[in-house]
Amino acid sequence: MDLRPHHDVLVVGGGNAGISLAARLRRDGCRDVAVVDPRRVHHYRPLLSYVASGMATLDDLRRPQADVVPEGVPWYPDHVVAVDAARSVVRLAGGLELTYGDLALCPGSEVDWDAVPGAEQAMATPHASTSYLPEHAEGTWAMLSALTTGRAVFAISDRHVPCAPVGLKPLFTACDHWRRTGVLDAVDVELLVAGPALVDHAEADRELRAAADAYGVRVRTGTTVEQVDGERRTLRVRGADGVEELAYDALYLAPPHRAPAWIAGSGLDAEGTDGFVAVDPETLQHVAHPRVWGLGDAAEVRTVPSGGALRRQVPVVAENIAARRRGRTLSRYDGYTVAPVTTSRSHLLLAEHDRDGRPEPTLRFPDLARPRRSLLVFDRWLEPPVYWHRLLRGKV
Ligand SMILES: Cc1cc2nc3c(=O)[nH]c(=O)nc-3n(C[C@H](O)[C@H](O)[C@H](O)COP(=O)(O)OP(=O)(O)OC[C@H]3O[C@@H](n4cnc5c(N)ncnc54)[C@H](O)[C@@H]3O)c2cc1C
Repeated sequence: MDLRPHHDVLVVGGGNAGISLAARLRRDGCRDVAVVDPRRVHHYRPLLSYVASGMATLDDLRRPQADVVPEGVPWYPDHVVAVDAARSVVRLAGGLELTYGDLALCPGSEVDWDAVPGAEQAMATPHASTSYLPEHAEGTWAMLSALTTGRAVFAISDRHVPCAPVGLKPLFTACDHWRRTGVLDAVDVELLVAGPALVDHAEADRELRAAADAYGVRVRTGTTVEQVDGERRTLRVRGADGVEELAYDALYLAPPHRAPAWIAGSGLDAEGTDGFVAVDPETLQHVAHPRVWGLGDAAEVRTVPSGGALRRQVPVVAENIAARRRGRTLSRYDGYTVAPVTTSRSHLLLAEHDRDGRPEPTLRFPDLARPRRSLLVFDRWLEPPVYWHRLLRGKV
């Protein structure tokens, strides 16, 4: 007899994706769903950009994990270290093994400091920071708001950064602050974007470039940070004109991210997925293991990962787990994603698009890809309660 705990659906990762999915499955009548996640504190990560802009605190975005795990869902507070998909077994760091009927993988991604030598060391100085890690978010605003002269460099990687365009929020809120405090002319602002556009949405991209232009920001796309020297406060960057060294007084990074190593270690990635979970980008079913599903930042679904994307992915996975069991046709995810980007401390636009950059607005009117005061109020003040009280409870 197999004495290992068994769950009808086992969810790996209790972040935005995992908790929303577990809650949704429970609402749909699944009686036995369990979640594995080592963290005791849950983060509403979109607010990190506002912490890094001096417009929110870390307390605003944290809740005990025990408060967000849905009622009736067992929670294993441990790390998954390996999956044996051929035998339907998940191994935890503490040695416990769990078996499953279906497995949903959503452990998110992690900052890949190895990809930019020197960047992690630079983060330990007061002159470099990121909003992508809670421990640096407050320091980002301390650094930016203290700058009154010199060069501020903002660099956005194109390697699996969660909701990458939100890395522009600290830039625009800082520029607005420097303008209001009368020092903008004394700050030389450089924006280095690794991809070809600020956002994969033509109209929003135009709006953001116009806003950058109005603040006098020098924008360079197709430009990657290769190395940081925190002691000398210099960067090595590669762009259209080759490699150059750039000095900085303040450096903000939206750093490259990578998949947790155990995904590839368990053979759940595939060629071309960079170690991320290899799923059909539409059905979210694993390409080799039909009872394994992938969603959120850890899955390769060929679109910009975001919390907004999960509003579409979670119902698809919940429906498809049931559909596969009944032999029905699987639902499909079209790659919808969204990036809310501030253009000042009072205005924000929403770039909503599919995986090919085609606009996919939630509302036809008004045009949400234009900066609006109401959108900033929505994103900063109304979205967090929607997250805690609806999305994490499986209501879309
Ligand atoms: C700074 C920042 C700003 C953002 N702003 C926005 C925004 O404005 N709008 C938007 O739509 N999206 C935004 N996002 C993106 C959004 O937060 C993510 O897309 C979303 O959180 C992804 O959810 P997830 O569950 O896949 O990953 P996560 O939320 O990262 O959750 C992953 C969970 O898995 C757990 N885990 C990791 N490893 C293991 C393991 N081995 N075993 C078990 N559990 C494990 C982790 O502890 C974590 O709780 C932002 C992200 C960041 C970082």
